[in-house]
Amino acid sequence: MAALRPPDILSLSASSLETWRRCRRAYRNQVLLSLPASDESAPPELGNAVHAILRLIHETGSCHDADHVRGVLDGHALSGEGAVLACVERHARRCPHPVDGGWHEVELARFHRRPGPMFMVVGRLDAVWIHDGLLDVRDYKTGSYPGTRVGDDPRARLQAWLVADRARRRGLRVRVRYEHLAPGVDEDPEPLEPDDDDLAAIGEELRATVAAIRSETAWEGVADPAVCGWCRYRSICPDRAGPAPAEPSWAPPPHPRA
Ligand SMILES: [Zn+2]
Repeated sequence: MAALRPPDILSLSASSLETWRRCRRAYRNQVLLSLPASDESAPPELGNAVHAILRLIHETGSCHDADHVRGVLDGHALSGEGAVLACVERHARRCPHPVDGGWHEVELARFHRRPGPMFMVVGRLDAVWIHDGLLDVRDYKTGSYPGTRVGDDPRARLQAWLVADRARRRGLRVRVRYEHLAPGVDEDPEPLEPDDDDLAAIGEELRATVAAIRSETAWEGVADPAVCGWCRYRSICPDRAGPAPAEPSWAPPPHPRA
């Protein structure tokens, strides 16, 4: 089998970084080979609805204006969706106000050249606010609670590094905050507010990760039942741990007519 080589300039996102850290085989399948998922994973429907509606609410008004929020939800037939409204209300209590500027679902890229290997960090940020001397990155979370400090999450550290040069040019400090919008989690984890030394360390951590990906040759699966049980490639993985799954859910190829 020919050696599988990552591209010369590797691109790293919060999601691909998470996949690499979870399982090298999954990274190979998903990121390097772009294989379609062979298995179902949990549907992110509530999360998608909340992200989309918060973007609309902010682009056309304020989340602190109850009439406006109600109007946007009505306009998308979501008023009856108590779970969406609950998430929006929890967001509003966390949303900075007033702000000097802000963006939603903003796509960014930052290039690292030296020392090698070169790489590109890319990301789509849920919201970025400028206020009180901060460039405040918000990540909306609608799932379970991951921990007590945002800085413990490598995906958050990647997001901080992604915006750091833009913040520096504007004379702003970087903050990454998780907004836990699903009811049941009352306290958000401590935000990440890295200084210049922390950001340099994060850059080095990303560079070392890219070097590790580039030198990987075995691409073995993690073989951990807790990870494999919900992997979207579990039925096609030779390294899978845990009970055997059903057949792949790929659609069968169409039969050519005789
Ligand atoms: Zn808001």
